[in-house]
Amino acid sequence: MMDRLDTEIAETPVSGREAPEQATSAAPSRKVFVKTYGCQMNVYDSERMSDALSRDGYTATDSPEDADLVLINTCHIREKAAEKVYSQLGRLAKLKKRRQSEGSDFMVAVAGCVAQAEGQEITRRAPVVDVVIGPQTYHRLPDALAKARTGAKVVETDFPVEDKFTALPKAPEKVIRKRGVSAFLTVQEGCDKFCTFCVVPYTRGAETSRPVDAIVAEAERLAAAGVREVTLLGQNVNAWHGEGSDGREWGLGELLRRLAEIDGLERLRYTTSHPRDMDDGLIEAHRDLPELMPYLHLPVQAGSDRILKAMNRRHTADDYIRLVERIRQANPDLALSGDFIVGFPGETDEDFEDTMRLIETVGYAQAFSFKYSPRPGTPGADLGGHVDEAVKSERLDRLQALLYRQQRDFAERCVGREIDLLLEKPGREPGQLIGRSPWLQPVIVNAKPEEIGDIVKVRITKAGTNSLFADRV
Ligand code: SAM
Ligand code: SF4
Repeated sequence: MMDRLDTEIAETPVSGREAPEQATSAAPSRKVFVKTYGCQMNVYDSERMSDALSRDGYTATDSPEDADLVLINTCHIREKAAEKVYSQLGRLAKLKKRRQSEGSDFMVAVAGCVAQAEGQEITRRAPVVDVVIGPQTYHRLPDALAKARTGAKVVETDFPVEDKFTALPKAPEKVIRKRGVSAFLTVQEGCDKFCTFCVVPYTRGAETSRPVDAIVAEAERLAAAGVREVTLLGQNVNAWHGEGSDGREWGLGELLRRLAEIDGLERLRYTTSHPRDMDDGLIEAHRDLPELMPYLHLPVQAGSDRILKAMNRRHTADDYIRLVERIRQANPDLALSGDFIVGFPGETDEDFEDTMRLIETVGYAQAFSFKYSPRPGTPGADLGGHVDEAVKSERLDRLQALLYRQQRDFAERCVGREIDLLLEKPGREPGQLIGRSPWLQPVIVNAKPEEIGDIVKVRITKAGTNSLFADRV
């Protein structure tokens, strides 16, 4: 089991998938290279920024050397993630010099949570940067770039009153199609939980939910363009709430029921959830909705009540275990995933053993685990009792070995099962396609490229290290 940043998304150049193609004929032709670090919400944001830039004539490129604009969408969740941004900016300084000597108006923009947290400090530390833009202001990116072209350094990190989602252009159908048959859709942003280790409430702001109509309209556009699976995103996605079409206050469970009615949308997922927001309506959706995939990412972070309290998680280990039991009663086939932090300040050997016991009790199909990284401005960073790095590493190794064993066991138990597989993209070998199992594992099967987007019956034949293999039935 590796760090989420290394396995999931970070350092994925989104540019290849972006290809915004709706340049107006008046706009000059320019190329943008987009680099995305961090979570799925950043992937979604990068797509929206690309949509906004396409109006200004930008098309995507896979290479920074070839670009007129390099846009880095950053993550501030751990120190390592933030520092990577500065080393990349160092490399870009040389490129900018070369491109400018060739007469290009090459620009660099930094977006995302590092932009929000560090603001002007970024242009001070890395003068190569022309524009710094936060997660709530990125709909203003084209205007910011226009200003920067006059020679100004532009820093836009306020929390504006206008709704960025309303201000952003909608991706045209062919752009959606190019992005694939599985899409992200942000329904909730920000966080009011203030876990003491976490920067999200500061970088993403207060919890907000997008209205039902806007979400349904976006999901319908995705489905009409051939998207078969939508993953609803939010920092605390299950805190989503809004006024439903029946005039009542809906929770995420009701929203999922509404989205399941959309023609062509066969699969729904959501991430990331907080245990305290897992209400009855959402648990019942896992019982009743075949479109809702039997997979739940429900981070607990630690198994010691003392540490959970210090983290301000506002639940105990036992609350979490009982919640998982209720969810599994509603859907016994559900795969559970989680996040864990080792070495939070004050964590003793005994506290760590509590976390190991919780993992044994719950049993995870997948999980992400991290060494605690003190984040400036969070209460955790000011706590005493910081744990030695060597101790953190030793604990992380043991925890990951246990989680990896559980992941392997879960995958082995899938062998022989017949499942519906959504074919998503070409595999490494010719004649292969890759899809995701209902439990989110990659599944490799022989299939023709024109079958991408189909949901086919397969039987799992083998569990590999990170993926499953299957035969058609
Ligand atoms: N909202 C989600 C929740 O409540 O669990 C988590 C969102 S956070 C972006 C993703 C994960 O990063 C967290 O679950 C936590 O495990 C990890 N994380 C956050 N801050 C961290 C820190 N300072 N050091 C190490 N890991 C951290
Ligand atoms: Fe961060 Fe906690 Fe909010 Fe999750 S719930 S985003 S970990 S503060």
